[in-house]
Amino acid sequence: MLDWGAMTNSSGVQFSESDLESLIQLQALTSRIVKNSLRLSAGPQSGNYREKALAYKRLKGQLDAVQSEIDALKADQRQVEDELGRFNNELEKSKKMLSNSSQKEYRFNPKLQLQISELDSKVTEYTEAEIAIIDKLEVLEGRSASLDVEVKSAYREAAKAKGELDKLKAEVELTNADLETELHSLRSSLSPVVVATLKRVPAEIIDKVSLIVEGSCGGCRLRFSSSLAEKIRRSPDSPNFCEECGRIVVLG
Ligand SMILES: [Zn+2]
Repeated sequence: MLDWGAMTNSSGVQFSESDLESLIQLQALTSRIVKNSLRLSAGPQSGNYREKALAYKRLKGQLDAVQSEIDALKADQRQVEDELGRFNNELEKSKKMLSNSSQKEYRFNPKLQLQISELDSKVTEYTEAEIAIIDKLEVLEGRSASLDVEVKSAYREAAKAKGELDKLKAEVELTNADLETELHSLRSSLSPVVVATLKRVPAEIIDKVSLIVEGSCGGCRLRFSSSLAEKIRRSPDSPNFCEECGRIVVLG
């Protein structure tokens, strides 16, 4: 539990009327800053951009995967074509050898016949392999083309969402700059008591003052303990701090 400590006990520090007014102004101003900043981090534009960017990334990943499948198949195709070319040459050579042969026995050379028949079946096998690759490539290229259209459209949507988010970001920054200016001038008018009290609130809390809402802290929503509620009831003009978040709590 945070306690005002010796200062409260010994000197019984009390806020003046204008101190309380400043604290309430401070609460209003800082809560506007927090709310304004939340428009950016928690608004639909932010979620929309994340969603669109993710959709684009997913589709682009699919397209890249299909593209690398195509590349691998094209490499296979080149290899098959090379082999096919080699077998075809050998086949032509062997056939020529057979037809040019003047020797009758050579024409019926079983070894050459066998070689031709083997080469023939290799040519058929590799031709079929190439046709299978071409068929697969056709399917993949069709998929790549339609994915490409989807990727481009997803990119446009993500870019549009990014534009909207950037526009909001600029608006939020502009509004916050105005609010910060107001805050700065308010801070410079605070009494030493208020300044000292504000220093007791944890540094990471931007809106250091919260209004008391039905016995709870308006900042963190925690219900006050009965002792704090009693303390607030007895001395509402003294510095009172929320036991949970450490904000200065004041009656609105
Ligand atoms: Zn609180």
